[in-house]
Amino acid sequence: MPICSQCNTQNPEGSRLCIECHTLLASSPAPAPPAVPLPPPVLGQQPWQSSGPATPPLPAANPIDGLIPYKNGPALTSYYLGLFSGFPVLGLFMAGTALVLGFRGLRQVKENPALHGKTHAIVGIVTGIIGGLFNVFIVIGLVMALLSSGHSN
Ligand SMILES: [Zn+2]
Repeated sequence: MPICSQCNTQNPEGSRLCIECHTLLASSPAPAPPAVPLPPPVLGQQPWQSSGPATPPLPAANPIDGLIPYKNGPALTSYYLGLFSGFPVLGLFMAGTALVLGFRGLRQVKENPALHGKTHAIVGIVTGIIGGLFNVFIVIGLVMALLSSGHSN
């Protein structure tokens, strides 16, 4: 039953003009826009989760990783510090750090072999020991030279 908005007269169904005031009647209330269909709620496990692999396959390991242990920072750092630990006097500090980092790198490889770097850690430790001893002798030699020169004067 359309009701006139001006005079509130009830008009017969289908009327376009009010029978009392001849106002254009609003057509029958527009039907509500169709509700946007929402995707059905996901209940429980989705089928593609059960059929497909849980995780995408990992990319092939970079072969470089096996040669240079980028993921094992301590081992790699120990390696380079060990190599440079032969530098006089300054190498003494590098050697000590190389030893500490070398053992730390070895422990990381032990806990996670995928890290690699065992060889680098060992090289860092060995060269660190050699460089360290070398520098100990250099320092001792320097001290001895200073002492002897002091005595001679
Ligand atoms: Zn009316």
